[in-house]
Amino acid sequence: LGADPLTERINEKQQKWKYKVAVLSGKGGVGKSTVAVNLAAALAKKGYYVGILDADIHGPNVAKMLGVDRAEVLAEELEDGRFEMLPPMTDFMGQVTPIKVMSMGFLVPEDQPIIWRGSLVTKAIKQLLGDVKWGELDFMIIDFPPGTGDEILTVTQSLQLDAAIIVTTPQEVALLDTGKALNMMKKMEVPYIAVVENMSYLICPHCGNEIDLFGRGGGRKLAEKEGVEFLGEIPIDLKARQASDAGIPIVLYGDTMAAKAFMELAEKLV
Ligand code: ADP
Repeated sequence: LGADPLTERINEKQQKWKYKVAVLSGKGGVGKSTVAVNLAAALAKKGYYVGILDADIHGPNVAKMLGVDRAEVLAEELEDGRFEMLPPMTDFMGQVTPIKVMSMGFLVPEDQPIIWRGSLVTKAIKQLLGDVKWGELDFMIIDFPPGTGDEILTVTQSLQLDAAIIVTTPQEVALLDTGKALNMMKKMEVPYIAVVENMSYLICPHCGNEIDLFGRGGGRKLAEKEGVEFLGEIPIDLKARQASDAGIPIVLYGDTMAAKAFMELAEKLV
C-alpha cells in the first residue's frame, strides 16, 4: 500500500532533517511554546540550522514570539505545477543563525477562532510539513497542540520523531494529562523522551533567593517514575513578557537565570 502523496512528500523532506523534536504538554498555558521557541533560539545561537513548525492551532503564537508574526508567506511554483510555501525567517539582527518558521497562525486571521474538525487540522499540519520548502535542517522542532488529540497521533505516525519533550509546570505535573502525553509518545516508540519543568521557581528580584511558588520537583519525579530523561527546571522570568512583546526569545533577550536554563537545556539535547 502506497502512502498518499502528501505523506510521501513529508517522507522525502524529513530525510533532510537530522533531528525531529516534538514539544508537547498535557494542558495549555504551561509554557510549551515558550520552551519550543527558546530551544529553537538556543540551538540557532549555537550555529545549528533550525526549523520550527507551530502546529498549535489553539494558540499559534510561535511566530509572534520569534518576531515574524507579520511576515508574508511567499510561494514558489514547482516543475510539476504545485506550489511550495517559503518559510519566513527570523532576523535577530544577524546575531544568530536564522530560524525558519511556519505557523498555523499564518493560514488564518489572527482574531478568528479556528473551528476545524480534527481531520482538517491533521491535513493542515501535514501540509505545513510537506508543502513547505524547509531544506536541510539540523533540528526540526514541532510545537504540537496541548493534550493528546488525534492530530498529534496522526502527524507523529507520518514522522520518524527522534525526541519528544514534555513540558509541565509543578502544578500540572500531578494531573493525569501530562502523564498521558508522555505515554502517548512511549506508545509511538519515540526513542528519546524527556520532561522539562517550566515555572519551577521564582527568583526574588530583591534578594535573589529562589521561591518555590508551586512546589518544585514534580517534573523530575515524573521523569523518574516513567523512566525518561529529566531535562531541567526553568524558572519564572519576569522579563518573559518584555521579551515576548519584543518578539525575542528570553534566551536571546537577557542574561537571566531562565536564559541560562534554556541554554543548558539545548546543550543537553545536542
Ligand atoms: P503554552 O504554549 O503551553 O500554551 P505559552 O508558552 O504560550 O504556553 O506560555 C503561556 C504564558 O506564560 C505566556 O504569556 C508566556 O510568556 C508565559 N511564560 C511561559 N514560561 C514562562 C516563564 N518561565 N517565566 C515567565 N513567563 C512564562
